[in-house]
Amino acid sequence: MEAGIPTKKVQSRAKAWKDPSSTTFDTLLQLDIEDLVKNAGGAVTDGLVSNDDDGKATVMWYSIMRGALQDVLVDNLPSSCINKVQFDKKLQDIIIPSSSQDDDDEKKETGGVMCKFSDGTTSGPFDLIIGCDGIKSSVKDYIETGKVQNGDSGIYSGIRIKFAVEDDGGDDATSADLTQYFGDGGYGLSSVYGNGKNKKSSKCAFLISLDDNYIGPFKKKEKNVESADENIAWTQDVRKELEEGKTDMLNQVRSCDLPDFDLGPTITNASRFFELGVYFHNPFTLKGWSKKLSDDGTWAVLAGDAAHAMPPFLGQGANQALQDAYVLASKICENNDIAQGRWSPPPPPASSAVVSGSVENDDEKVEQQPKSLKVLLKEYENRRWFPTASITVKSALIGYLETGGVNGFYSKFRDVFFRTLGFIGVAQRVLLDAAAPKL
Ligand SMILES: Cc1cc2nc3c(=O)[nH]c(=O)nc-3n(C[C@H](O)[C@H](O)[C@H](O)COP(=O)(O)OP(=O)(O)OC[C@H]3O[C@@H](n4cnc5c(N)ncnc54)[C@H](O)[C@@H]3O)c2cc1C
Repeated sequence: MEAGIPTKKVQSRAKAWKDPSSTTFDTLLQLDIEDLVKNAGGAVTDGLVSNDDDGKATVMWYSIMRGALQDVLVDNLPSSCINKVQFDKKLQDIIIPSSSQDDDDEKKETGGVMCKFSDGTTSGPFDLIIGCDGIKSSVKDYIETGKVQNGDSGIYSGIRIKFAVEDDGGDDATSADLTQYFGDGGYGLSSVYGNGKNKKSSKCAFLISLDDNYIGPFKKKEKNVESADENIAWTQDVRKELEEGKTDMLNQVRSCDLPDFDLGPTITNASRFFELGVYFHNPFTLKGWSKKLSDDGTWAVLAGDAAHAMPPFLGQGANQALQDAYVLASKICENNDIAQGRWSPPPPPASSAVVSGSVENDDEKVEQQPKSLKVLLKEYENRRWFPTASITVKSALIGYLETGGVNGFYSKFRDVFFRTLGFIGVAQRVLLDAAAPKL
């Protein structure tokens, strides 16, 4: 909360239709986040509002730069963990000591598994490997094929994202308004993002557009071009000089008829530019999110983008990754309580009946037996699969809709659609449903 800045407003704007030469932008949709959350009631409000001892309610909806969030996570690790964190390691293989390799799912007799890295080092033994290694996850490969390979390549959506970062450009902003500008064949996004406690915030401008060489995920017949890279390492766009990156984005602002007055200054003052292609990754997998690695109870499990890479149009990937971490951590704590003899069956609720190891009453079932790690990992997946799959699907649809089609083919339809969605409250529900924690 201290490292980010509260998001107060989300709005979608488009150029006024009546006068095409006008530089004014109509507001199609405007959401006041505080009112929206407080008025939603129920689980949404409970999950997104923090009440302090004096009864003051704070809506917990923040904007933060990715790097600042990572700093917060690392800085708050317990001191006993911090010296175990190693960066710049690339997992190359998972080694199951003295295992029989005959049967992928039934590897025999080990005391945990070892991780081998590309620098030649190995670490371990571990009894649980958590693959939170992003959209091209090596651990996901291992769960699906029994081998660490090159990661799921996904399907190129034909949507490209360019963004410019003006470090410190948000100065001392105390709140963030996220403004989306709809144009022809693309849209722009402008906001400020927290950079850490007592640090100046950054300003970012995003341009989301359709790839000229594609119609949706299909390459145009006559085109012999490569799809845009997914940029999994978030590397800065070093293919172009800084000036070229600026000119490129500013030209796109003009060609998509987006407002120079908001996006323009950020792009002009930016010192970092990024470009990536959006890929769709199938949320449906028969193998699930976890796999038993050895008979002594060693498992691998996925979290974050590794489990459910989603297009970024609802701004939810990192939020969902954090929720995965929370749910998975609570399951691991439960497992450790069981393994270390701290677990005891919860007291049965009033007016209940015992049915084969569990206690049931009308609307709840309380487990009376300790659960295995397999069950706990499945419970984690079951809790997190549906919310993340649902955001993945909605986000993919929204991405195409918001660009307005090739050369603005359906941009007028999009503008009316968004105004209507806001009017009837659907946009509000989609945003709230995605953001509210499902733990
Ligand atoms: C343009 C854009 C805008 C976005 N905007 C938002 C937003 O507004 N809000 C939001 O919540 N989310 C947003 N997201 C999504 C968000 O960035 C991701 O969902 C989030 O970073 C996922 O976190 P993760 O830890 O699962 O994976 P990552 O952040 O990708 O981290 C994975 C890590 O694993 C490492 N790794 C990969 N392979 C290996 C290996 N073999 N061995 C060891 N390490 C490995 C990588 O180097 C990386 O450090 C956006 C994404 C994009 C592309």
